[in-house]
Amino acid sequence: MENIKPDEITNLIKEQILNYKDDIQIENVGVVFQVGDGIARIYGLTKVMSGELLNFDDEDKTIGIALNLESKNVGAVLMGNGIGIKEGCKVYSTGAIAQIPVGDNYLGRIVDALARPIDGQGKIIFRKTRLLESPAPGIIARESVCEPLQTGILAIDSMIPIGKGQRELIIGDRQTGKTTIAIDTIINQKKKDVYCIYVAIGQKASSISQVVSSLKRQGALSYTIIVAANADDPATMQYLAPYTGATLAEYFMYRGNHTLVIYDDLSKQAQAYREMSLLLRRPPGREAYPGDIFYLHSRLLERAAKLSKKLGGGSMTALPIVETQEGDVSAYIPTNVISITDGQIFLSADIFNSGIRPAINIGISVSRIGSAAQTKAMKAVAGQLKLELAQFTELEAFSQFSSDLDRTTQKQLIRGRKLRELLKQSQASPLSLVEQVATIYAGTNNYIENISLQHIGSYFVGLYRFLVSTKYYEIVEEQKILDDTAIESLEYCLKNYSKQFFGQ
Ligand code: ATP
Ligand code: MG
Repeated sequence: MENIKPDEITNLIKEQILNYKDDIQIENVGVVFQVGDGIARIYGLTKVMSGELLNFDDEDKTIGIALNLESKNVGAVLMGNGIGIKEGCKVYSTGAIAQIPVGDNYLGRIVDALARPIDGQGKIIFRKTRLLESPAPGIIARESVCEPLQTGILAIDSMIPIGKGQRELIIGDRQTGKTTIAIDTIINQKKKDVYCIYVAIGQKASSISQVVSSLKRQGALSYTIIVAANADDPATMQYLAPYTGATLAEYFMYRGNHTLVIYDDLSKQAQAYREMSLLLRRPPGREAYPGDIFYLHSRLLERAAKLSKKLGGGSMTALPIVETQEGDVSAYIPTNVISITDGQIFLSADIFNSGIRPAINIGISVSRIGSAAQTKAMKAVAGQLKLELAQFTELEAFSQFSSDLDRTTQKQLIRGRKLRELLKQSQASPLSLVEQVATIYAGTNNYIENISLQHIGSYFVGLYRFLVSTKYYEIVEEQKILDDTAIESLEYCLKNYSKQFFGQ
C-alpha cells in the first residue's frame, strides 16, 4: 500500500484522458415485449423520433415505423408479417425518417409501398431519395390552376373541367366505373408529357393486373408508375402507399414536369389506418376512426399543386377515389375528402344501371376551378350544353308524373335524350379536344335533330374521320380557339357530312 504514489496515478489518469479516442457510436437499442397483428411494443427506445424507421433483429430483417411514443414504451407498426419477431427481439433505431428512392427509372414499373419493385423485372437503379412525408408547397410556391388536364371524357372535359394541379375527387358506389375514369385519364395523357402514378390500395391482385394489362395494351405503361399495396398486404403498407405515390410524383413536379396521381381508393387507406390506430390503442372517434383521420388525407392531398414559374412551373394533379355505401356522401370519409378537394365527380349506380356510361351525375358533380381550366374553344360551346342538360334533367323529372305532354315539351325531351346519348362513351376511347368541340357544337346546334337515338354513336364516329385536315381541325388543334373561320369550316363539314350520312 505504501509504495503507491498519488502523483503517478494522477499522471496515468491524465494521460489516459488525453489519449482517449471518442469513437463510440451511440446506438439506441430496444427490446420487443409484445408483438402481434402488425404491431410491436418496444421497451427501451428512449431517443427515437416519431415516424423513425426501426430495424428489427429477426430473420426477415423486418422494418418498422415508430408511431406511438409513450412514457414507458414505443408502439411501432411493422412493414411485413413479422412472423420471426419474438419477445426479447432487439430493435435498432436508424435515425432516419422513412424515405424512398425516386427517379425516371421507375416509369413503367410496379412497386410496393416502399418503392421496391414487385414486377419481377429486376432492380431499379436510382440516384436520389425523397422523404415519404414531405411538407406541401406553401402559398408563395404556388400558382393558381390555369392549364387544362384533358381527361378525354367528354362529360368531364366539357362540364367538370380539371386543371393541372387540381384535386378532383371521384366518388361513387362500388362498380360504378370509378377506376375506369381514372385509367382513361391516364390513357389520354399519351404524348402529352404528363407522368402518371396509379396507387392501388387494398385491391385484389387480379384487379391490379387488369389495370396493368389495359395500360400496356394502350401503350400507357411507359409513362406510368404503379404503386400497389394489395388487400393481403399489411395495413401499414396500405396506409403508406398513397404517400409513396405522392413522393414519386414530387420528384417529377419539382423538376418542372406535369404529373397525375390517382389514389384508388382512399376509403381503403382510411380503413387500414383505422386498423393500425385501434391496434395501437389510440382512442377511436366517429365511425371508430382515430382523431387524426382528416389530417391523414389533408396532408396527402395538399401535396398536389401547381408550382410557380420560379420553381419550374411543374404540377401534380390528384384524382383521389372514394367509395360510398348506397350513394351516401354524408359519411365521415366522403365528407372529409369532399371538403379537402377542389370538386367531385359523382358516379351513381342508378345511372350506371340504366346504361348511361360514364355514369356521371352531372347535377351534383362540380369543379371549383371552373372554366379557368378550359381552353377557349371548349368554353365557347360548353356553356350551352350545360344549360340544356340541366333544363332537360328538370323536365324529365317533372314529366314522369304526367301522361299527356304537349308537343314542345315532347320535343324538348327528345332533344335532351339525344344530348345525353352523345355524352355516352365507352372505356378506353378518349376524345381529343377537336372531336369534343365538334360533338358539342353539333349537338347544341340542331345537327342531330333528324338522327334517331340509336344512330347517334355511329354518326359521330364518321364525323371524326371527316374532320381530319380541315381548316377547323387546324385552328382548334393549334390555337385551341373557335373563331369565325373555324365555325364556318365546321358548319360546312357538318352539312356535307350529314348529307352523306343520310344518303347512306
Ligand atoms: P370497384 O368498386 O370494384 O373498384 P369501380 O367503381 O372502380 O369498381 P370499374 O371497375 O371502373 O368500377 O367499372 C366497373 C365495370 O363497369 C367494369 O366492368 C367496366 O368494364 C364497366 N365500365 C366502366 N365504365 C364503362 C364505360 N364507360 N363503358 C362501358 N363499360 C364501363
Ligand atoms: Mg375500382
